[in-house]
Amino acid sequence: MKVAEALASSGLSIAEARLLLANATGWPRTTLIAHPERELSGSEVRNFAAIAARRKAGEPIAYLLGEREFYGLGLAVSPSVLIPRPETELLVDLGIERIPSHASVRVLDLGTGSGAVALAIKHARPQSQVCAVEASAAALEVARANATRLGFAIEFIEGRWFEPLAARRFELIVGNPPYVAQGDPHLAEGDLRFEPREALVAGADGLDAIREIARAAPAHLDPGGWIFLEHGIGQDAAVRALLAEAGLDSARSWPDLSGIARVTGARLTNLGGTS
Ligand code: GLN
Repeated sequence: MKVAEALASSGLSIAEARLLLANATGWPRTTLIAHPERELSGSEVRNFAAIAARRKAGEPIAYLLGEREFYGLGLAVSPSVLIPRPETELLVDLGIERIPSHASVRVLDLGTGSGAVALAIKHARPQSQVCAVEASAAALEVARANATRLGFAIEFIEGRWFEPLAARRFELIVGNPPYVAQGDPHLAEGDLRFEPREALVAGADGLDAIREIARAAPAHLDPGGWIFLEHGIGQDAAVRALLAEAGLDSARSWPDLSGIARVTGARLTNLGGTS
């Protein structure tokens, strides 16, 4: 079978079919585009058919390819981790804005998953000391492998939110915790069906994890330090209220590229006073 026939008969969009055929053959996509007449071997055809069938059954393309790009970094992903999403780049942007270029700022990433946020911050601010906490051992393995492959020194710690950190304080805390409500119909659609539930779902209103994090945050921030949390559509006012109730100041929310309030931040009062 020729490349063009395999792509056309796959039942997938041409873009996805090419990505999966490149994966099944080991040929670069540019080769597939330039040489539609190339003959595929029997095993290449079979590999492609198998992976295309999984895609048609709904498996996320990122899991089938085992990778996803985030903030310009190629990250390995597996079904143990949430697939990094473009809207999470806002969380990274807000964090990076708070870190002066050559400062050695202590940063904490809560629930790092694939390591996406921690790695993107370390990439943009190599002098920062980034600590990343994750409750899932399987996810932490993915994050560690990503850091090793990219050559970034990150301190990884297994545990739930702040629990493994004792009394440690940070100048900046970021996190993309689970924030989908139990029973939300989106959980039965698209990629979400295949992603780890514990990375997505947080109680009846989706705010259980953020509630827990907000309560403990003041004890882990330096005076003047900021925390930024990603959340879902329509949760921004509730998250601002939770951060304020916890005793943090200046709570405000920022919109993602679709105009949806997606990240909310607040800071611990700087008793010394100026910033
Ligand atoms: N943004 C994800 C979604 O609803 C949820 C990610 C999360 O819970 N942190 O698709």
